Amino acid sequence: MISTLYDPKLFITNREYKCKFPERSLIDLQAIIEKPYLYIFGQSKSTDVDQFSYTSSRIGDLMQLPEPMEINGVPFFDVIRALSGNCPARQFESGQQRGGNFSCLCGMPSNEHSNLEFAYSFDPPSLAESFQLYKGGCLWTRFSLDNPSPFHNLKKEEIIEELEARNIYMYECNKTELQKALQTELHGVQRPPALLCTQELYIDDLAEYEIPACEPLHDITNVVQNLITELPAHFPEKSVQKEFQHFSSTTIGDKNQIRGADSRLYAIKLAKFVSTLFQSGKVSEEVFDLCTALVEITHLCYMHCSHRTPKQILRLYNQTFKFSYLRKCVIGVPEKMSERKFYGSHFHSLTVHDPQTNRLFCLRSLIPEQEERTFGDLRIFR
Ligand SMILES: [Zn+2]
Repeated sequence: MISTLYDPKLFITNREYKCKFPERSLIDLQAIIEKPYLYIFGQSKSTDVDQFSYTSSRIGDLMQLPEPMEINGVPFFDVIRALSGNCPARQFESGQQRGGNFSCLCGMPSNEHSNLEFAYSFDPPSLAESFQLYKGGCLWTRFSLDNPSPFHNLKKEEIIEELEARNIYMYECNKTELQKALQTELHGVQRPPALLCTQELYIDDLAEYEIPACEPLHDITNVVQNLITELPAHFPEKSVQKEFQHFSSTTIGDKNQIRGADSRLYAIKLAKFVSTLFQSGKVSEEVFDLCTALVEITHLCYMHCSHRTPKQILRLYNQTFKFSYLRKCVIGVPEKMSERKFYGSHFHSLTVHDPQTNRLFCLRSLIPEQEERTFGDLRIFR
């Protein structure tokens, strides 16, 4: 699906609409302008080879972008700007491996996702830098649409050849050590970005294209679900534990997956519930601050373009930092799930990449909530 990014410089604002049509009731202009349209409808497996079958149509259409469309004699040039989607769609689009030790597009090791200090000092590569890294050896020349992962299933000699082409010389190492060295060198880069898999587009054609390393809808949903599941196990007093358990079972219950809208409601309910406990002295200030920070983060991620100011952009940085710090203070080592799941890619994306991406785009524009609503209808055609 495709949609237009709302920009108050190009489109009418809510205030202008109110002045122009005082008799009409208020509408959400950003939502109307960003309403998604069906672009390609197909059915395929989720493998890279099958998903590449749509890429040539996309590239064919992108080749026509330099031709402007005219509205009242004014030429408008469309630009491909951003992908909005959860993993693995993001990983496919950018050429990153799915899951594993380098699941995030920033190339940070997955076992460091909870390490905020490491994340802040880590310099994520641009699309062009990742592409350069991919072409830094010799085996990338084996890439084709039928063989989209040229670094997969390599023999020991092939790994040595690839490492030497990258000026990495390792002697007397076994295959596992060599593979690990190549993985670390590539930071999870597996192949070119999806739109550069043929010879028709060049990296410069994608100079304005961003594939964000976050997507607030799924990040928030997972973080809320994990927090509500984990919290009851972290209070020494049995009575408080019981109250949290009751809250957890009446919200999340035994559902495997919760809806995005429900998770946002549960975050608010959790903050209200914890506020009552805090006032009666049953939980610490850290627990109260943790839950209110999550509500604040949700509010900032879903903020309308008209409210996105430098102050609010900074506020998202501060709130995500506070949330990350408090989550480690209150929970520490999780008991109900693995550390990898609790401090996994959604936690990392929400606390590190959402504030970074918010500097470039209004995050609300990247939330595929309207797209997801149409999926139910589209499944009828299966
Ligand atoms: Zn990352």
